[in-house]
Formats: sequence, C-alpha cells, structure tokens
Amino acid sequence: MNDCIFCKIAAGTIPSERVYEDEQVMVFKDIYPKAPVHLLMVPRQHVESLNELTPAHDGLVTHMLRTLPEVARRVGLTDGYRTIINTGRGGGQEVPHLHMHILGGGRLPGF
Ligand code: AMP
Ligand code: ZN
Repeated sequence: MNDCIFCKIAAGTIPSERVYEDEQVMVFKDIYPKAPVHLLMVPRQHVESLNELTPAHDGLVTHMLRTLPEVARRVGLTDGYRTIINTGRGGGQEVPHLHMHILGGGRLPGF
C-alpha cells in the first residue's frame, strides 16, 4: 500500500483544491498557506525528494520547471513568485513526495 498523502491527492482519493493538472503533474493549494497564494506542484509519480532523482526523471523535471511559470500566470501571479523545494529533514521537508512550493500574491518576507 502506498501511504503517501501527495500520491493520494494526485490519485484523487484525498481531496484538494486543484488549480492545474496534466498527465505528469498536479498543482493544488497548500492547506496551511504561508502567503496569499501558496500552491504545491507535485509529480503524479512518487519521487521522494530531489535526492532520489535520476536521469530517468530528466523529462519530468524539465516539465515541472517549464510548466510552473504558466501556472503562475494562470493564477494571476503577474508580479512574480517564490519557489521553494525543501529536501530531507534538515531542509524542513515534511511530506516525503517531491513538491515545489509556489508563493506570492503579496509582500513576501526577505530571504
Ligand atoms: P514541506 O514542509 O516542504 O514538506 O511542505 C509540505 C506542505 O504540504 C506544507 O506546506 C503543508 O501545509 C502542505 N500540506 C500537507 N498536507 C496537505 C494537504 N492535505 N493538502 C494540501 N497541502 C498539504
Ligand atoms: Zn507519493
């Protein structure tokens, strides 16, 4: 059994507020938003983190990065946005399924 929460969201067995989906990725609203707009982009296939990526994922990674600006445009982030990928416990990753945070829609704190 795959007990991964983001796999379940991607499969539709756990509800989410989807804003974009295609055959490779899904984008949905973060349940605890840290900015006026806070989205998560996840690959449909389970990949734990950046550390598990192999050359076989090159097409997926390119697709994620190339799709992200289009999603940002669609949700109205015309002034820009911040992308974050947390990796592993030391990087603050809580959900062990690769995801990109997309934050914006207001003044973000300095990094
Ligand atoms: P990270 O700390 O990078 O692993 O981020 C995990 C993110 O997933 C956090 O910002 C959570 O608020 C978010 N999250 C956890 N469960 C859900 C859920 N069921 N639907 C939407 N977002 C979630
Ligand atoms: Zn998963």
